[in-house]
Amino acid sequence: MTFSSSYSPPLVCEVCGSILLLPNGAGDRTCPNCFRDALDPVTQGEQVVQGTPEGIVPFAIGPDEALRRLDTFTQAIPFRPKEIEEGALRQRLRQTYLPVWLVDADLETIWKAEVGYHYQVVSHKEDYVSGAWRTREVKETRTRWEPRVGRMQTRIDNVPAPALDGFMQLMRQLDGFDLKRMQPFAPEHLNGAAIRLAARTTQDAWVDAEPRVQEAASGEVQRAATADEIRDFAWAQPQFQHNWTQVLVPVYTTYYLDDDDEKQVLFVNGVTGTVNGDRRASMRRAQPRALIFGGIGLAAGAISIVLALVLLLVFPPAALVGLAGLAVAVGFGVAAISPVVRVMQFNNRTQNAQVWKTTLTKTSQ
Ligand SMILES: [Zn+2]
Repeated sequence: MTFSSSYSPPLVCEVCGSILLLPNGAGDRTCPNCFRDALDPVTQGEQVVQGTPEGIVPFAIGPDEALRRLDTFTQAIPFRPKEIEEGALRQRLRQTYLPVWLVDADLETIWKAEVGYHYQVVSHKEDYVSGAWRTREVKETRTRWEPRVGRMQTRIDNVPAPALDGFMQLMRQLDGFDLKRMQPFAPEHLNGAAIRLAARTTQDAWVDAEPRVQEAASGEVQRAATADEIRDFAWAQPQFQHNWTQVLVPVYTTYYLDDDDEKQVLFVNGVTGTVNGDRRASMRRAQPRALIFGGIGLAAGAISIVLALVLLLVFPPAALVGLAGLAVAVGFGVAAISPVVRVMQFNNRTQNAQVWKTTLTKTSQ
């Protein structure tokens, strides 16, 4: 596949398995998906899925806006890793186009389903209000179900199907890509971004697309029957004619190192700016504060005890001052523990969550 002479031959990442093209002369030769330095030319034994993109959804937000979104996303981390504070996300920001398949399916099939029509039932309820019974009219919507069978011949257009493993999950996490923004593919749109090549064939992708095609066919039957609902849609021996198109969609990627020096990759939707990725609070940054508060607490505690003992000998009622000192010491103790607890809680919570989303307001560009 040649996009233009300004790209490398296909490279494979030995860590994450991405197959990609990098712009010639790109300073950064790491993988834009996992940021490991393990890219090798694709050998003849390795399978590269054929297919040239016919459509592209160009980047709609610039790097500065992507960084602003990343900043908002990472602001939610208590004790952000030092690298983020130092601007690592900006230095490592990369632009990549990811492939996705779109399928148009000409479909001919026999189907059966139950279609539902709403109707209203009026009943009367008695309420006891202020010492008297009152009759109230209650309207209730019910559904009348009717079995139907038929033959259909239709065309379902632009059903997305993953060209990369795990793509649908990423797409959900990044709020999807608006395919209405799709334009015919032209190398000028690439603008030096890396390009991931499809890893799934159209046959593999069809497994994911077929349920969506069926859903669309079911919707068509519902509309044709002017029904309010449809259930138990099934088809028998459907015949398909497929037309596959490959489309490129834009993402920014970058990463920071967490306390364990693990690379945590963050993704930004190149159209909507939605950010996703692992947020890890830094225990390393929480510890100094914990130590300072802990030290003050210990010192205050020790002084208070000595003071209380001395005052007990000299003037016993004044020993209460020592008790007050002890309370202050306990306060500092709690303040010492809380940053550590906050980091542990935050990291546990984010580790258990499947999807994180920032709620960002739309901004002008
Ligand atoms: Zn990789």
